Amino acid sequence: FADHSDLFRAHAAEQPDKVAIADEEGRISWGELDALVDRIAARLQAEGVGRGGAVAIVGSNSIAYAAVFLAAVRTGAAAAPLTTSATPEALTAMLADSRAKHLFADPGIELAVPPGVERISLHDLDAWLPPESARPQPVTVAPEDPFNIIYSSGTTGTPKGIVQSHRMRWNYLARTAVYGPESVALLSTPLYSNTTLVSFLPCLGAGGTAVLMKKFEARRFLELSERHRVTHTMLVPVQYRRIMALPDFESFDLSSYRAKFCTSAPFAAELKRDILDRWPGGLVEFYGMTEGGASCVLVAHEHPDKLHTVGQVAPNSEMKLIDEDGNEVAPGGVGEVVGRGPMMMNGYNGRPEATRAAEWFDAGGRRFIRHGDVGRFDEDGFLILMDRTKDMIISGGFNIFPSDLEAVLAADPGVIEAAVVGVPHPDWGETPVGFVVLRPGADRRDVLTAANGKLGRMQRLSALHVMDQLPRSPIGKVLKRELRDRIS
Ligand code: ATP
Ligand code: MG
Repeated sequence: FADHSDLFRAHAAEQPDKVAIADEEGRISWGELDALVDRIAARLQAEGVGRGGAVAIVGSNSIAYAAVFLAAVRTGAAAAPLTTSATPEALTAMLADSRAKHLFADPGIELAVPPGVERISLHDLDAWLPPESARPQPVTVAPEDPFNIIYSSGTTGTPKGIVQSHRMRWNYLARTAVYGPESVALLSTPLYSNTTLVSFLPCLGAGGTAVLMKKFEARRFLELSERHRVTHTMLVPVQYRRIMALPDFESFDLSSYRAKFCTSAPFAAELKRDILDRWPGGLVEFYGMTEGGASCVLVAHEHPDKLHTVGQVAPNSEMKLIDEDGNEVAPGGVGEVVGRGPMMMNGYNGRPEATRAAEWFDAGGRRFIRHGDVGRFDEDGFLILMDRTKDMIISGGFNIFPSDLEAVLAADPGVIEAAVVGVPHPDWGETPVGFVVLRPGADRRDVLTAANGKLGRMQRLSALHVMDQLPRSPIGKVLKRELRDRIS
């Protein structure tokens, strides 16, 4: 275990003039970044921020955002990056949950700042900064000290504050040791998400360069890839889909790419195949959760016959599948994923009951985290994910996996994307209802008839709705609760 702050200081000393972070407004060298982080940390310390404290941040990706995040960690406090897409009420609740006394925010973000909390503009940090000579007191952190509090995506309900320790972060850094000083990572997902941080922190931790986009746009992503000679990226499936759909994809020079990562939502096998065929460099998919139970890794370029899976359990992680009664299922059986590993959280911030509900203990009393996903292992130990437990549809006592129905709908040439949810039904308990984005000219009734012709009797869709686009979280996850709300 070593401290991230020491690591970052060492890079700044070795390569002060090299670009550490570029955003859409400018760039900052390692030397300048280190000095900026020091000044922010010094002022925070002067205001009593340190071990046991937290610093909240809300805004779009920028150099200032990243510097405040790193400065919070340098004081020994936890960085608490808040979800930008949340309602003012949810943001206010997250801020209170984090117990931060400082909120660094982009102008225009609405929330009620409670008394005793200072709001500082990320667009005008200079006005708040202490003199250039200000330096923070050195701090020694313990491995279990909180590094950051990350709010879960809130895909299934209210976001939960997940406390990630210095130990956890260090283990992420060690696991993703694919980065080196020559790495350039292009990141377009928000910095408040673990999906982004698991690339951002290890890339900088290796002395590389991070290029940040405020808002994802497929063509601009490829332009930036070319301009910065990008070597690594982390994208979510919907972003890959948009990029691969560009008619002039082939006209961009992407030969600098070494590896591309993907996580956070179901990643269709044919999309992985297309990326392997047309985009230079490796492709690696991660399956995991912010809570860090266990993770699976699919090195897609080495296992082209396993693209329908999320890969194998990562080294040092352990994963089991359990049934509704909490018993392990027989080999080859379907069950809820539970896992343990070096990235495992200690618990949700201030929510002991939610923490207990997320835990599972094996016969030896060892602690696992429930992932809330259903899957099964194939004969080679690759995990086939089926659905979130909360999205599974139980109709007439029969388990229906929406992902099976979504695959049938998505295979229709008239369908761009599809989602299926269960809605209450007086006779069967629940019944599946579909939502599709159609290609111009496609007919809803034809799609429904064709899909139901391919589905089993219990699986048939009771209704099919057409949408312009599916509701998604900023990290690209389909928000099924919004779909359910729409029809209930
Ligand atoms: P909340 O817990 O607030 O509902 P969330 O579960 O979406 O939000 P995250 O921790 O960001 O929050 O996401 C973890 C979940 O994302 C996993 O449980 C799984 O459902 C999904 N996921 C992650 N990686 C993959 C993957 N490679 N393929 C399919 N699904 C994935
Ligand atoms: Mg979750």
